Amino acid sequence: MMQSVAVIGAGAVGLSAAVNVQQALPGVKVTIIADKFDEDTTSWGAGGMFRLDLDYHPKEEHRRVRSWATDSWNFYSNLAHSDQTEASGMSFVAGTLLYNVPKEHSYSVMSDLTFDFQMLNQDQLKKLNPRVSHKYGYSFSTLLTHTGTYLKWLMKQFLDLGGSVQCRTLSNISELQDDFDVVVNCCGLNAAQLCQDRHIYPVMGHLLKVKAPWIKKFFWSEEFYMFPHNNYILLGGIREKDNWSTVPDPAIRETILSRGRNLFPHLKDAPIIGEWVGLRPGRPSIRLELELLRSENKRALPVVHNYGHAGDGITLSWGCGVEAARLVKQVVTAATSRL
Ligand SMILES: Cc1cc2nc3c(=O)[nH]c(=O)nc-3n(C[C@H](O)[C@H](O)[C@H](O)COP(=O)(O)OP(=O)(O)OC[C@H]3O[C@@H](n4cnc5c(N)ncnc54)[C@H](O)[C@@H]3O)c2cc1C
Repeated sequence: MMQSVAVIGAGAVGLSAAVNVQQALPGVKVTIIADKFDEDTTSWGAGGMFRLDLDYHPKEEHRRVRSWATDSWNFYSNLAHSDQTEASGMSFVAGTLLYNVPKEHSYSVMSDLTFDFQMLNQDQLKKLNPRVSHKYGYSFSTLLTHTGTYLKWLMKQFLDLGGSVQCRTLSNISELQDDFDVVVNCCGLNAAQLCQDRHIYPVMGHLLKVKAPWIKKFFWSEEFYMFPHNNYILLGGIREKDNWSTVPDPAIRETILSRGRNLFPHLKDAPIIGEWVGLRPGRPSIRLELELLRSENKRALPVVHNYGHAGDGITLSWGCGVEAARLVKQVVTAATSRL
């Protein structure tokens, strides 16, 4: 009997899980169910930098996070080196990361994955930019995802592999009980409502899109960052826990601009061409696990939860999709062997 899998969510996490399930289980029918697509998702607006700071993940999760990051890195860097670079929105960019505390341990995944991770001394930092006052700097090349292009590319892969899509809002995962054998839940921040997860919270971020074609490298510090995409530069660095607002705040816009201009005075000549506010799905740790959802008089519905990626959702989405598909495969294989 052909099994059928529902994936809740059409952000980077849901699309990656859906394509991974299709690849791991070619005979299985996969349906994406979501109420937001493309520019209405958080994933669409994200900065798209591949960056992993282990300090943001509990120690007992480091092994799993490292493995998700490695699977993602291998997949994205293959894309960035292939004829799919443009279509998938994956490219490499070099740049610098600055802190006031040493971070080589928490960036050990990045130093292992990249070919050119280097710690900078004070002299090099001053040569880089005499305006920076940070004590520690690291330079490396990483992957930059043009998220809108990547989501479209993932959706095309999904449809080409025979997937189908339903646009609908779910009030409860058990609504899928009668129509699907397994569910992969990639609902992002909405886990607060959909599965009453009390651990999930928003971390508001605000990005400005500016024209500054002279900027070719990324710059990242906790207060201010900039990422050079093809036709624009993204400026950001705002992280406000428990702020649910998605309306651009002029005071925050000014904060980003003044932090940026203090470090890079020529940004005063960069016109603003876009602005976006998004909510990172914050959680003490990413929830990626199998649950058997029980309801009265019905069989238990296997649900693979995959949400709560906070500021790492683009970085980790492919690798988490690989693990989600592995869990789905275990369930499907066990069910088939019982027939
Ligand atoms: C300002 C900012 C900058 C960022 N920069 C980066 C970065 O540089 N690098 C990085 O790795 N990450 C970055 N992120 C984080 C990244 O954007 C998120 O971690 C990621 O987008 C989460 O993806 P997701 O698929 O879980 O959620 P989403 O993209 O929000 O998708 C959730 C999906 O679930 C569906 N859904 C939810 N509930 C229901 C329901 N009840 N019924 C039906 N459908 C439902 C929605 O319709 C949607 O399709 C940034 C985030 C912000 C806000």
